[in-house]
Amino acid sequence: MAGVAMTPEARMVRAEVYGTFAREGRAPSPAELAAGLGLAPSAAQAALRELHDMHALVLTRAGDGVRMAHPFSAWPMGFVLRAGDRFWWGGCAWDSFGIVAALKERLEILTVCPSCGAELRYAASDTEAPEASYVVRLPRPAAEWWEDVVATCTNIRTFCSPEHVEAWRDKTGAAPGYVTGLHTLWRLALPWYGDRLDPNWEPHSRAQNQRLLEDVGLTGPFWALP
Ligand SMILES: [Zn+2]
Ligand SMILES: [Zn+2]
Repeated sequence: MAGVAMTPEARMVRAEVYGTFAREGRAPSPAELAAGLGLAPSAAQAALRELHDMHALVLTRAGDGVRMAHPFSAWPMGFVLRAGDRFWWGGCAWDSFGIVAALKERLEILTVCPSCGAELRYAASDTEAPEASYVVRLPRPAAEWWEDVVATCTNIRTFCSPEHVEAWRDKTGAAPGYVTGLHTLWRLALPWYGDRLDPNWEPHSRAQNQRLLEDVGLTGPFWALP
């Protein structure tokens, strides 16, 4: 994906998808993109497919709309972000901080511990770290994230404590995954997602992203990007 130039249509469509998510907390439809950008419907569809293939966004299984444009999600995925009367769906615990990083705003994050069902609330901005001592479990190694990225995000969840992760694993038989603190994911999300609303955004290279992981201490086989 790195080094592959985006077509001008893909760049326009990408900027409009991200702009709509940022402003309105929702994904624009392909017809809306085509009409708004003055593109033929087939050209808008081809641009969406190009962006999907380069992992710049994720289409629905049917390919008929935007499912995710990381860190944004078109549908509920266990995390709600709020600033005043504006709301966004967070794709996962990590993406929630990604929305904070992309919007550069202080947001309240609301989710539920998968283990005990407790409602968990915390807040962060691009300069203010989350204070809560909750932990996040990532379900699978970095090499496997994009095999099914929606499933990966669905399972990157915030828990009350390491003990609640353990109780939940005992109950469900889920893989160990990797457990880290909110603060680490917040630090990672800032450079990982902070540039997503830039209209001139270019995909990060594998090496660049690997360095971002290393910078916050996420090293070893679990974190080796494909
Ligand atoms: Zn809990
Ligand atoms: Zn995610």
